[in-house]
Amino acid sequence: MAGMSKKIKKNDSVIVITGKDKGRRGKVLFIDSQKGRVVVEGVNKKKKFVRPSQEAPKGGVITLEYPINISNVMLFCEKCKKGVRVGFDVKDDKKVRKCKKCNKEI
Ligand SMILES: [Zn+2]
Repeated sequence: MAGMSKKIKKNDSVIVITGKDKGRRGKVLFIDSQKGRVVVEGVNKKKKFVRPSQEAPKGGVITLEYPINISNVMLFCEKCKKGVRVGFDVKDDKKVRKCKKCNKEI
């Protein structure tokens, strides 16, 4: 998959643009670029029943973030204060991402 320009990366701050979590902001925790899905902190949380483990000694119900379609999120621009489209620029021979609205490097 060389040459694929990744518009959204792990640890990016994104905003959900559709669905039940619309308007929610969070950090990208995981990306499955092959399936086109992302896991975003605090988004699409569902209850899950678990057996006792080190993290949950009593077991029971925990809430976990489940993947959503990557097209349901947009990169959040701190300057524009909203979800924005991502463009690319070349700077010092390296590809950098920028906000298409304000041109701020992201
Ligand atoms: Zn911007």
